[in-house]
Amino acid sequence: MSDTTHDPARRSWVQSANGHADFPIQNLPLGVFSPPAGGKRGGVAIGDSILDLAALDAEGVFTGAAARALRAACGETLNPYLALSAAERQALRQALGDLLDIGAAARAHLLHEMVECTLHLPARIGDYTDFFAGIYHATNTGRRFRPETPLLPNYKYVPVAYHGRASSVVVSGTALHRPNGQRKPARETVPSFGPSRNLDFELELGVWVGPGNALGAPVAIREAHEHIAGFCLLNDWSARDIQAWEYQPLGPFLAKNFATSISPWIITPEALAPFRLPQPPRPEGDPAPLPYLFDAADQRAGALDIALEVTILTPGLRDANLPPERLSRSNTRHLYWTVAQMLAHHTSGGCNLAPGDLFGSGTISGPDRESFGSLLEITDGGSKPLRLASGESRSFLEDGDEIIFRARCVREGFVSIGFGACSGRILPAP
Ligand code: CA
Repeated sequence: MSDTTHDPARRSWVQSANGHADFPIQNLPLGVFSPPAGGKRGGVAIGDSILDLAALDAEGVFTGAAARALRAACGETLNPYLALSAAERQALRQALGDLLDIGAAARAHLLHEMVECTLHLPARIGDYTDFFAGIYHATNTGRRFRPETPLLPNYKYVPVAYHGRASSVVVSGTALHRPNGQRKPARETVPSFGPSRNLDFELELGVWVGPGNALGAPVAIREAHEHIAGFCLLNDWSARDIQAWEYQPLGPFLAKNFATSISPWIITPEALAPFRLPQPPRPEGDPAPLPYLFDAADQRAGALDIALEVTILTPGLRDANLPPERLSRSNTRHLYWTVAQMLAHHTSGGCNLAPGDLFGSGTISGPDRESFGSLLEITDGGSKPLRLASGESRSFLEDGDEIIFRARCVREGFVSIGFGACSGRILPAP
């Protein structure tokens, strides 16, 4: 489903937007930034610039629903924007597209150079939930413990997840300390406390929750899409040694809660409309989703075609002036559950979601080593270290390493859009 905001012929008076890899006029993602003079406010990424939504609001150019939606998007957090309906988001998108169109009056005084600005978390995150919907990742990690039956019996019935930690979600570019924790390798009889030796990344799609629901009032699968207000890239940093020792019987805790990085721009469902796919049919012999997780429209267009890439920049690559090296290329089409199924399942027992809640999809690995979404899979638990162009080798992440995620949507007949980077560099343990 596309409209004039996706018109591939459309160009902007913001010259850098035309042909921009991430932020052409067809994207228009929202974020929160501070210009050099300070003052957090909402903005829209357009080419190499940010359109200042607070300054636009002050000029009173928009009217009606677009003006009301703009007001919700110009403050220090985008939670009021995330609470809007799809129709209200669409009214703002339409008005912003018209404002930035090459045929409209240029308003360069509303722009800031993105490189000169500080980007912030776009919303106050009330709760964060991490799913496990990447079936290749679930299979690869399960195989380490159960070679014959890698997937547990619940996997194809339940969109498996755990409640994560919202307080330590940080915006791309924020450096993070290697966590200390209890480590107990198999060769040792008792645990020791110290810096994680097996620090890893997880390549995930982040999902911004929209209006949400009241406690005790589940969201039906057919309405779930109305509560999904945007997408980002998400790195669920994971300390594998701490995880292996602590996770039974209640699941991840300190191995995951020290940091989660997200990309700063909220890519809207409207911008992603041309890049929707049918959910791939389940393999022969898999159970059908239970009725509360099945909706024909969701099956027809609930999946997303987003190409994902992971690169690493190590101290050795940096010193040798070498570029970041690619670790993986994957795609969101490898998710076994749609985002609507995740949301419907999350609320099915009565749990309430609120605007600005965040989901992680689970690690999105593809079927082969070139598409794996974690070092645990790429290096087979550290047993097959990677050789880098700098001569360095890596089983897991070392201090000074930076991991960078990128995402791009490409479809014939449409202008490609991207997500911007989700990056983070590892500092020594405190
Ligand atoms: Ca994860």
